[in-house]
Amino acid sequence: MSDCLFCKIIAGEIPSAKVYESENVYAFRDINPQAPTHILVVPKKHVASVAELNDSNSRLAAECLVAAAEIARKEGLENGYRIVSNCGPDAGQTVAHLHFHILGGKRLQDQMV
Ligand code: 5GP
Ligand code: ZN
Repeated sequence: MSDCLFCKIIAGEIPSAKVYESENVYAFRDINPQAPTHILVVPKKHVASVAELNDSNSRLAAECLVAAAEIARKEGLENGYRIVSNCGPDAGQTVAHLHFHILGGKRLQDQMV
């Protein structure tokens, strides 16, 4: 997707603070962190959101979550962390490329699950 911000980040056209990369997954630090550790994990292939997952691309979401667990271990989040994926306008999704937020490094708010 030529006009997708995260596709441009994955392609290296926009700089990012990379923390992880595999064949299908890329992860980088959020530019506006909401917690001491705030990392975005994305599939390299463009998928707009969780709402676009199906039997043929669900493997990408699984790989993102496995990567998230590995990243959390490397980041020292042994006390816990939250994984969030905003889907659509009511959830406040601002970038239409599937991404999983890893939030940790402090006691997170009890509200919102
Ligand atoms: P959403 O609101 O769609 O769930 O999450 C999008 C996230 O992308 C936000 O937390 C926002 O701070 C982050 N973001 C937006 N633009 C950039 C950017 O250019 N670089 C990085 N690293 N993060 C970005
Ligand atoms: Zn994209």
